[in-house]
Amino acid sequence: MTSAQERKIKQTGCDARFDNLTRQLYATDASIYQIEPIGVAFPKSAQQASLVIRAAADAGLSVTPRGAGTSLVGNAIGEGLIIECSRYNRQITELDLEKRSVRVGAGVVLDQLNDFLKPRGFCFGPDVATSSRATLGGMIANNSSGARCPIYGTTADHVISLEIVMADDRIEKIGPTHDSLHAERTRIGNLIRAASGEMTECWPPGLIKRWPGYGIERFLRAPNDLTNILAGSEGTLAAIFSAELKISPLPREKALGLIFFASVGEAMQATVELLDLKPAAIEHIDRPLLDQTKGQLHFQAARDLLELDTKPCAAILIVEFYDDVAERLSILESRKIGLRTKILTDAAQ
Ligand SMILES: Cc1cc2nc3c(=O)[nH]c(=O)nc-3n(C[C@H](O)[C@H](O)[C@H](O)COP(=O)(O)OP(=O)(O)OC[C@H]3O[C@@H](n4cnc5c(N)ncnc54)[C@H](O)[C@@H]3O)c2cc1C
Repeated sequence: MTSAQERKIKQTGCDARFDNLTRQLYATDASIYQIEPIGVAFPKSAQQASLVIRAAADAGLSVTPRGAGTSLVGNAIGEGLIIECSRYNRQITELDLEKRSVRVGAGVVLDQLNDFLKPRGFCFGPDVATSSRATLGGMIANNSSGARCPIYGTTADHVISLEIVMADDRIEKIGPTHDSLHAERTRIGNLIRAASGEMTECWPPGLIKRWPGYGIERFLRAPNDLTNILAGSEGTLAAIFSAELKISPLPREKALGLIFFASVGEAMQATVELLDLKPAAIEHIDRPLLDQTKGQLHFQAARDLLELDTKPCAAILIVEFYDDVAERLSILESRKIGLRTKILTDAAQ
């Protein structure tokens, strides 16, 4: 990094750091990789992000947008300038309960959003395991999802529109109601349509969760909506500055059906047989994990509730249901799957 390059970036007025400590802090994410960036910029507004991205391009530096850095594959690190979107962009605005939508800055953390929505009876559906850290910008860019993917789908399914900053410094709003980036939409559409046959084979309809990556099969279904391409693009196409998101009503009631199995194989097979009951989630716990709780005082109440000491098993499926649970729980019980079934409807349990 030359002093001229550093000066160019600092002249934008954006908070930017080039010291060794900052560069080391941003050299890792949750992956096994390590790449020391040249510096880190912390834009406070889309305009500032645009100026700093332009300055980086003029200085010949690559840019890598970044949220909380919890990604597992090294996509939040890079050798150029890190555009840190989580420090300042944490505002939640434009809540519209009738339309079931809200606007978030890219740096809003999932738990922060859900803490805001919960007293109003709503939530953001996709539930990544890193909800206390993951930013909405990172979730959109990774098209994240969690255990409740069967009912909520992935983050891309909840994006209404995005405010993005592009590599050539344009600030654009994209989504089905924004007639922006016409030339780009046409070009992407032509590229994708040319390969649509192959894609249909690779991604059969009904596949709700797949790895991140450009949502080209989603774009085929809704060619006017560029958010389908941005969601899952891992920061390679633009920096997301804010997003208008769909929100979901909180479930009125919840219940769990626990099914105990003699083998992991039987548990895996049973997940397929349970899908017609439309569970919110199915989680699997196997024997090695259950054995870790043996002899530990704070797990004893749970072990007693599940009768693990008197009726051992090799695997458990925890099947979660939301709303109108009674009928589905009784069908689950009547199917007599596995060694035994236990129904939990009391939240305290
Ligand atoms: C223990 C553990 C459990 C996990 N569980 C899950 C899980 O259940 N489901 C799941 O999907 N993932 C999971 N992950 C991966 C990760 O936590 C999620 O994908 C998370 O949503 C990433 O958010 P982040 O803010 O940390 O993004 P980062 O790690 O900072 O970035 C992720 C990607 O998004 C890009 N990006 C970030 N912000 C922006 C922005 N504003 N504009 C454009 N691009 C941006 C980055 O360039 C990078 O490519 C897990 C990770 C760990 C360590």
